[in-house]
Amino acid sequence: MSYILKGETGDWEVVIGLEVHAQVISKAKLFSGASADFGAGPNEHVSFIDAGMPGMLPVINERCVEQAVRTGLGLKAQINKRSVFARKNYFYADLPQGYQISQYDQPIVGEGTLVLDLADGSTRAIGIERLHLEQDAGKSIHDMHGTKSFIDLNRAGVALMEIVSKPDLRSPEEVGAYLKKMRSILRYLGTCDGNMEEGSMRCDANVSVRPVGATELRTRCEIKNVNSVRFVMQAVEYEARRHVDVYESGGKIDQETRLYDSNKGETRTMRSKEMAHDYRYFPDPDLQPLEFDDAFVESIRKTLPELPDDKKARFISAYGLSAYDADVLVSERENGEFFEVVAKGRDAKQAANWVNTNLFAVLNKKGLSIAESPVSAANLGRLLDLIADNTISGRQAKELFEAMVETGKDADVLVSELGLKQMTDTSAIEAAVDQVLAANTEKVEQFRAGKEQVLGWFVGQVMKATQGKANPATCSDLLRKKLAS
Ligand code: MN
Repeated sequence: MSYILKGETGDWEVVIGLEVHAQVISKAKLFSGASADFGAGPNEHVSFIDAGMPGMLPVINERCVEQAVRTGLGLKAQINKRSVFARKNYFYADLPQGYQISQYDQPIVGEGTLVLDLADGSTRAIGIERLHLEQDAGKSIHDMHGTKSFIDLNRAGVALMEIVSKPDLRSPEEVGAYLKKMRSILRYLGTCDGNMEEGSMRCDANVSVRPVGATELRTRCEIKNVNSVRFVMQAVEYEARRHVDVYESGGKIDQETRLYDSNKGETRTMRSKEMAHDYRYFPDPDLQPLEFDDAFVESIRKTLPELPDDKKARFISAYGLSAYDADVLVSERENGEFFEVVAKGRDAKQAANWVNTNLFAVLNKKGLSIAESPVSAANLGRLLDLIADNTISGRQAKELFEAMVETGKDADVLVSELGLKQMTDTSAIEAAVDQVLAANTEKVEQFRAGKEQVLGWFVGQVMKATQGKANPATCSDLLRKKLAS
């Protein structure tokens, strides 16, 4: 299912590469001991290094190196046991050093792969070009004073992983799937919390278009720092269309950096794009090349959790789930764990169905995460048991579930409190059937004249007469028997 842009002169395809800046989960910054925590007062987490004081020397934080290697392993990427920190020189008001310590031609992680899970159940592998470590910048505040700007350096020097994809993406949908999958992998690994709204995961999109069938890449534009998955998708869509329109009206695309305005739904020029040589990269003389051995990499590999792709494959083969259900359940580690508690020793498809539809509907409505679910996994499992042993009907199960959500009480407690037990006494159901038939002789005639669908109506009436406690299948059997006689 390819994404094609129609033009006057023919069909166009879009070529997209993404750069994700992911804030590393660590206690301290990349080259200083200052706290990397979010939410402190202005400039409370700033060391002399972060403030760019002369004579200060950076010292690498081993934890950040581990996190980068861990992420590389999660992306099935090549781990470079020797990498080099480089200075990227540019004037940036939020970075007092006057340069950013980054990595250039020798990054810590090389080529890897990320698998997209698409809406139609298909998958597609996207190449990862590299992952490198670098410092984040601080934050200028321009709206607190009429004539002055303020600066908060808490974030200056916090470790970022810049993860660059190959230009393998071909549609806004794939861009969305890529970012969701990246976020999911980072969260499984515990290397980044993936929160785009709070800026701990930021995305730049490189976009170009070319006629369908062409193989060369055309000039690209980079859309900077978009802060939600939806906005990146919208920005890409807008930008691709803009390129097609420019080419078709005989114009030319200039390589530049653009901003996405989500209010207007359009991108606009921010600055003409710098080339790598503009930054005058050179190895940082304050830092040794970063070197580690196989044992270091293996010690990290041993601690990797089961990642979304493997978990999805297992859920499909072991539980017989559809690709879609498995995708939903593995997107967050906690979802999969919850599901497995519910499914253990029970009908797994039914368990997946209850978690993915009934439970998630409630959580979405209440804005809760699965960890905050008012219904525990064990308790939801108990509800499924009550359906399985015919204590409650499917309809009663819904009622019970709502009560569990509202009260947080156990399934068994609520079944007796609400009197939800299904009627197992056939004579009581029979009495209700007789009553309903006697009161509706007209409908009885209709049924006997061949109008089969009346049966469903009768079942509904008997259910109503028994306050929903009768088993619908039993009602239906009894009704048929009586109507035939
Ligand atoms: Mn960067």
